[in-house]
Amino acid sequence: MYRLIIFGPPGAGKGTQAEIIADKLNLDHFSTGQILREAVTAGTDLGKKAKAIMDSGHLVPDEIMIGIVEQSLAERSESNGFILDGFPRTLAQAIALTGIFSKLGFDDVKVINLIVKDEELIERMLSRGRSDDTEDAVKNRLAVYKESTAPVLDYFRKNGNAIFDITGAGEINDINDQILKSITLNHRS
Ligand code: AMP
Repeated sequence: MYRLIIFGPPGAGKGTQAEIIADKLNLDHFSTGQILREAVTAGTDLGKKAKAIMDSGHLVPDEIMIGIVEQSLAERSESNGFILDGFPRTLAQAIALTGIFSKLGFDDVKVINLIVKDEELIERMLSRGRSDDTEDAVKNRLAVYKESTAPVLDYFRKNGNAIFDITGAGEINDINDQILKSITLNHRS
């Protein structure tokens, strides 16, 4: 059973890598950004609430996000585990996640930490063309990452989670090989 969190700044390639890993290891891929984008497209209450926040590059409130993730993780599935992408993004989310994991009896949660330089992140986001990839929103998202999300890594460290630092620059497949090598090498069963 694999229980993975893919962590890193916006534009680091979390979504792309998570999708490939989920495919190769038969994992559920829970992307909070994707769940929100689907809600926006479907025009649900959640989508209406989230759209302006997302387009400005800020964070959707913790209570909403924690509820979404708790529900996703509690769903029974035939897969080999999950990869969580885009969550947690604040200390409050990280603390809540630890509680959800212990309630569900999930241990041995591994964190894949994707490292990419700021200039490259900005370049990648501006070439993606998502509605929240305008110059202002991209700037906000990087600032929010540094201020609210980066401290989550220290929390994981103190919490005793295994953290795998992976350089997220270069070819998608090479980066993926490195991730798979490190998580499978360190896998219990
Ligand atoms: P992403 O696809 O992960 O880049 O997420 C896109 C946007 O969705 C973010 O910029 C946030 O506005 C929102 N979002 C996604 N995940 C979270 C989260 N865990 N907490 C708060 N907002 C989130």
